[in-house]
Amino acid sequence: MDDKGLTREEVLAHLSGFRAKDTPFNHILSTMCAFPHEIVHDVHTMFAPTNLGDPGLYPGTAEIEKRFIQELGELLHSNTAGGYATSGGTESNLQAIRIAKKCKKVENPNIVVPASAHFSFEKTCDVLSIEMRVAPYSEGKYTVDTDKMAELTDKNTIAVCAVAGTTEYGVIDDVEAIAKIAREHDTFCHVDAAFGGFVIPFLKQPIPFDFAINGVTSISLDPHKMGGSSIPCGCLLLKDPEEFSVLSVETPYLTVKSEFTLSGTRPGADVAGAYAILKLLGKEGFRDIVAGCMENTRRLVDGMEAFGYHRAITPVLNLATFENGDLPKGWKISHTRNNHLRFVMMPHVTRDVVEEFLIAVSELQRS
Ligand code: PLP
Repeated sequence: MDDKGLTREEVLAHLSGFRAKDTPFNHILSTMCAFPHEIVHDVHTMFAPTNLGDPGLYPGTAEIEKRFIQELGELLHSNTAGGYATSGGTESNLQAIRIAKKCKKVENPNIVVPASAHFSFEKTCDVLSIEMRVAPYSEGKYTVDTDKMAELTDKNTIAVCAVAGTTEYGVIDDVEAIAKIAREHDTFCHVDAAFGGFVIPFLKQPIPFDFAINGVTSISLDPHKMGGSSIPCGCLLLKDPEEFSVLSVETPYLTVKSEFTLSGTRPGADVAGAYAILKLLGKEGFRDIVAGCMENTRRLVDGMEAFGYHRAITPVLNLATFENGDLPKGWKISHTRNNHLRFVMMPHVTRDVVEEFLIAVSELQRS
């Protein structure tokens, strides 16, 4: 640390030098993180000092979180669901399984997850000392084989998990079948909709994945992904919010007597920002965004196939995958574990960005 501080201008110039090294957002086709909606800047100015970890000091901000969660619960077809804003999908998944472990109380607990499960489940099982059983994909698909999932489920299974919008292929597991397995074993059914939670409800033909399905006990969905919010903002909702009480710890020196969240201090600004976006856009606005992303996904698939890059699967959500091939420089595209090219068609990947990328591919082919 320097002995003497710099001027404001000097500090900002210093920072902008670093920022300039980052990849421009419109060349990032590999991220599930949102380019935050512009309203977030004003909201941050208003809410920057607020801490949801001590809600008695910020009852207004705490009320925003409550309303936000309630509106999301309704979107996910439950009037009774409750929850809180987490730091993202990892924390939501971990907390859901933590609750399942405390509620089920079995020796040698296990969870059964699809082969597509995000690596946050591996962390979860490590932290909680739980066995992770991985159910394979259905033949020729990237959704889980639910028969195999049922075979792996036993009396020590504290939760079966489904993914609604997988990280690598953007596909949706058969949540109805997975919830049925959970019901038959009287266990939890956690749906990881970290990515799909802000997409699926807004599709022209939504696919069942939420609390409307009998047996779904918890859902993760991330505003900082398709919800357009700043990082960090995830959400965990439980159909029966009373179950959060198993995580309660006493918080003697705060304005509340107990808390069940994993983090203590939690940012009010990001949650208020996420709520602002919900209010600003309404369902109509989200439907438009999702329709645009789906349209751009189709355009990318058509364009890439015209250049000989064959799709790995036909996209279900705004995520496109292709057989591997050469890529133009200067663009960030990731690969799946099966070495398929993976494009996450977030709202910042506009039609112009898609066309610019396809031109770059055509130039690459000519060179
Ligand atoms: N679950 C799914 C399906 C994801 O795609 C991701 C991240 O991409 C996560 C969980 C983890 O979310 P986070 O990185 O916000 O912790």
